[in-house]
Amino acid sequence: METKKETHQFKTEVQQMLNLIINSLYSNKDIFLRELISNASDAIDKVRYKAETEPGILGDDTELKIHLKPDAIKQTFEISDNGIGMTYDEVLENIGTIAKSGTAAFMEALEQAKGHETLIPELIGQFGVGFYSAFMVADKITLLTRAAGASADQAVLWTSSGDGTFNIETTEKATRGTTITLELKKKDKEEKDYTDQWVIRNIVKQHSDFVSYPITMEVERDEPLPDEEIIKDKDDKPIGATTRKVMREETLNSMKAIWTRSASEVKDEEYEEFYKHLSHDWNAPMERIHLKFEGTTEYYALLYIPSKAPFDLFTPERRHGIHLYSKRVFIMDDCKELMPEYFRFVKGVVDASDLNLNVSREILQQDRLVINIRKNLLKKLFDLLEKMEPEKYNTFYDEFGPVLKEGVYTDPTRKEKIAALTRYKTTKSADKWVSLDEYVKNMAADQKEIYYITGDKLSSLLNSPHLEKLKEKDYEVLLMTDPVDEWVVQSLTEYDGKPLKSAEKGDLDLDTVDDAKKEAYNALFGFIKGQLEENIKEVKPSSRLKDSVSCLSGDAWDMSAYMEKLLKASGQKAPEVKRVLELNMDHPVVEKIKSLYESDRDNPVLKDYSQLLFDMAVVAEGGKLDNPARFPKWWVT
Ligand code: ADP
Ligand code: MG
Repeated sequence: METKKETHQFKTEVQQMLNLIINSLYSNKDIFLRELISNASDAIDKVRYKAETEPGILGDDTELKIHLKPDAIKQTFEISDNGIGMTYDEVLENIGTIAKSGTAAFMEALEQAKGHETLIPELIGQFGVGFYSAFMVADKITLLTRAAGASADQAVLWTSSGDGTFNIETTEKATRGTTITLELKKKDKEEKDYTDQWVIRNIVKQHSDFVSYPITMEVERDEPLPDEEIIKDKDDKPIGATTRKVMREETLNSMKAIWTRSASEVKDEEYEEFYKHLSHDWNAPMERIHLKFEGTTEYYALLYIPSKAPFDLFTPERRHGIHLYSKRVFIMDDCKELMPEYFRFVKGVVDASDLNLNVSREILQQDRLVINIRKNLLKKLFDLLEKMEPEKYNTFYDEFGPVLKEGVYTDPTRKEKIAALTRYKTTKSADKWVSLDEYVKNMAADQKEIYYITGDKLSSLLNSPHLEKLKEKDYEVLLMTDPVDEWVVQSLTEYDGKPLKSAEKGDLDLDTVDDAKKEAYNALFGFIKGQLEENIKEVKPSSRLKDSVSCLSGDAWDMSAYMEKLLKASGQKAPEVKRVLELNMDHPVVEKIKSLYESDRDNPVLKDYSQLLFDMAVVAEGGKLDNPARFPKWWVT
């Protein structure tokens, strides 16, 4: 057996994080225990799952549990599990490096949380930097571990004081699993003593009661002495002690899988704690759904909607929130098959009795039962959201609307349903969400279409020249400022029988055009088009301008300006789409240019005016000029 002994440097991010954990003052150090217990429980889940296919792997060590051992004299705290353990390489990979995608996001979030130190425990939980949270209470941590299937001399010892380096070496360990020993920090008088059994009992009860394996601890108890050991007087009355102190192993948690209990039996606090355990979120959830389905097949589901969006909601590697169980045996977390992407913020547990424990993700996708459960859960979620009281729904929408909206184009069967749940700011309601149903209800009598405009800033959309005529008509326009909206409108071409129409594309057909007047401008427009050939594909009289002189529009099927901007920003090649320059025939400037053109066609200033009309259109929609220096000069001529 090869022996190894090495000292490693923590990855920079880890050390930065450790410094924060060690040096900041936390209001809630108790979470270290929850994190270590949760790791132990995960490790047992894994070995139990593995044993389904490799029955020999457990050996004699079949009584799966987590054991806590506080030592008041040595001031140490030990937690052991007989879970899957880790090999040398796994320790290196899992502890000290965290090659997790969450790290960068975590550091960023920490940066933002400066001055709000009470937020840090929440962040620690959210980003799964759980193990390191033990450095909140410990000066030194020792981790001794032996992987399932490894021999006694293939164990690994990891030690660190959180000061830049850690040591790792091969060693011996008699049993499978992991033992973590904390050398506790000297505590202040007011601080909790983590070797006090009552302190520990309370934390376990509060944070880890539903962990599905026993969490045990040796506790001292008074037990009655056997009768023959009691010294008695002549009247048979005991003299002296009738009890003695003995150490007994006690289970501290109830292990109740709360999802299998009936909803009336579960207290709100229990639901909340379970949510926190599941999600690592420190806020209470906004909503929950607890249901038991009985029929040809039986399953339980307990779902939660968080009250706050997590920081990594939009990172592609983000895990989904559904844990899958069968008869209380853990199968997998991150179960994407049960929840569409647009509900990825939902957390919870699904426990289906008839599911095969060895089910693979590939099979899961086609499993009829899974498909059925998913359909039912979606129905419940939609019911919940549809019936939610408006104020609350708006809060929900502020947090999760952008995610939910993805469903409009990713789930064609539920497009209308999801569209009904979207909310928009509008030209008539710039600070309050409006639903599409409300929009339709408020449509003007002669209005046939639902108008929208996309862009990145509400303020510039509100002032967009494209909306002048629509405003004059008193037609409401949806202001879409979320990148996702570009995809939403591509897929949602109508709602409630009313077509959706972009205010910046195609003809708006709001008024009948004066054909004679249009004729009169033909020659000038042809001339301007000739001047701007590189920038535009057409010049035409505008159907949307009232006060402004010019604007740019697209043909009905062209890409919107915002979409083009988004694609460019994301580094994708956006096809260079030439747009249409619309001119306001009723604007005095256009009239003046027309008379100049008619009287003095060769005047060089006409070329400059053409450019000016174009530049003004670009600026009006918040765009950038290729040569901004030119612009102010135009104004003074
Ligand atoms: P997370 O639990 O979110 O993955 P942690 O920092 O809590 O993050 O743990 C990091 C990793 O270390 C775990 O993913 C796991 O692979 C490993 N680990 C931690 N504790 C144990 C344990 N008791 N047994 C086996 N592996 C463990
Ligand atoms: Mg963990």
